[in-house]
Amino acid sequence: MNVKDFTIEKYHKGLLNKEFTVASFIEEIFNLIESEDSRLGAYLSLMKISALDEAKKADEVLAIRGADVLNSQPMFAVPMAIKDNILIKGHRATAGSKLLENYIASYDATVIRKLKSAGAIFLGKTNMDEFAMGSSTENSAYQKTRNPYDLERVPGGSSGGSAVAVAGHMALGSLGTDTGGSIRQPASLCGAVGLKPTYGAVSRFGAIALASSLDQIGPFAKTVKDVATIFKTISGIDKNDGTSQDIKYGEDLINPDFEKIKKLKIGIPKEYFNLEGMDEVTKQGINSVIDFYKKSGFEVKEVSLPNTKYALSCYYIILPAEASSNLARFDGIRYAKVGPSTPLGVNEIRSNAKNLLDLYVKNKTQGFGDEPKRRIILGTYVLSSGYYDAYYSKAQKVRSLVKKDFTDAFKEVDVILTPVSPTVAFKIGEKSADPLAMYLSDIFTIPVNLAGLPGISIPVKGINGLPVGFQLIGKSFREADILGLGQYYEKND
Ligand code: GLN
Repeated sequence: MNVKDFTIEKYHKGLLNKEFTVASFIEEIFNLIESEDSRLGAYLSLMKISALDEAKKADEVLAIRGADVLNSQPMFAVPMAIKDNILIKGHRATAGSKLLENYIASYDATVIRKLKSAGAIFLGKTNMDEFAMGSSTENSAYQKTRNPYDLERVPGGSSGGSAVAVAGHMALGSLGTDTGGSIRQPASLCGAVGLKPTYGAVSRFGAIALASSLDQIGPFAKTVKDVATIFKTISGIDKNDGTSQDIKYGEDLINPDFEKIKKLKIGIPKEYFNLEGMDEVTKQGINSVIDFYKKSGFEVKEVSLPNTKYALSCYYIILPAEASSNLARFDGIRYAKVGPSTPLGVNEIRSNAKNLLDLYVKNKTQGFGDEPKRRIILGTYVLSSGYYDAYYSKAQKVRSLVKKDFTDAFKEVDVILTPVSPTVAFKIGEKSADPLAMYLSDIFTIPVNLAGLPGISIPVKGINGLPVGFQLIGKSFREADILGLGQYYEKND
């Protein structure tokens, strides 16, 4: 058995046919992690002992219930990697920051609780840009994560570790968070499938918040069907997240009715294709997908999203504003295990601090990296009494316009098809000194978060070299449309 060949679907078939045991599969994955991850840097911490223990238990359940448990629980025994800003009780959750280096989660995030009761097995926590701020995972305080297609290139971000865990075959599925593109963009750059669900589709309880009006948790996997399977497991209303909604997703999420899917109208926003700085392979790749749908008989028409050009500026006011407020709780005292050997030297700082304010300043100065600092400063500025109206209020109005663009377009079409990233994976270091260039990586993904819509990144087929992803954007809570259309593309040539 070569774990590299497996999707979740195929893994379950293998278990059903008794081709291997759960324990042997999970052991093989850890062997692969041991040999590959020193180069790829996807994982920040591993959960080998508990994973192997769970695997043994799963084999025992299989021995008794066999096919029954595999058929009724599609996530049973599925090895998953989890972004390090999602809490698993008893394990570290650093959010890629030194400030949380010693933080051990005291409860499970709702998505983790759901995956646990569905039988999934957690392999470890994955690297990310500090507090999910970034598009390359270079802002992690711990390590670089490398693109499996070219080790000199970034995997995208901020959920770079989760994308590489899947693309590097070191997990069958993973979770990330997407506030402005952090699932879709790394999925695109690494050749994985990544879904940002509708705002409210998945509970964010137990995810370390970045910008609460934009954040969503979502899955990565190797196929659209696998992504649908994970999404169905983690979605649903939760009393611990007041924004979560009670949507009853049907079986068609995973097994679409292609007759219905073929009736969906696809919109192509004209503003997304004349962007300066978009590379040729991306353009060609996206055009090949448009051609595919046209040739398959889908109705494809041009739509307009005229306020897209303001989305990035709007996002970079709203996000820092919310982030500055969310990150205020990280003072280096709470969520930090204070001890003599803490990397921040909390005790030394404590004994040297002149007063409480001085302690806060010292902790935050040492604990936060450049990007969080930049955004906290920006955020407090745009929220300050003198500038609130000029920046924050105005950005909220622009956000309504961006949303309205989509509402209007969705009167004419059911799904919108766009690029995910203007370029393929860039070189490590290429954009890290230029925050503006980095921010542009998310030009096609950010409007979707501003509007709260579901979006998925799917690898374009037939690309030699670095992967290109295309994005399908759906109406609110119509994940079934984009997942169905995605599966149609995957299945047909
Ligand atoms: N790259 C974007 C940013 O830096 C998106 C982040 C995200 O989705 N978490 O804000």
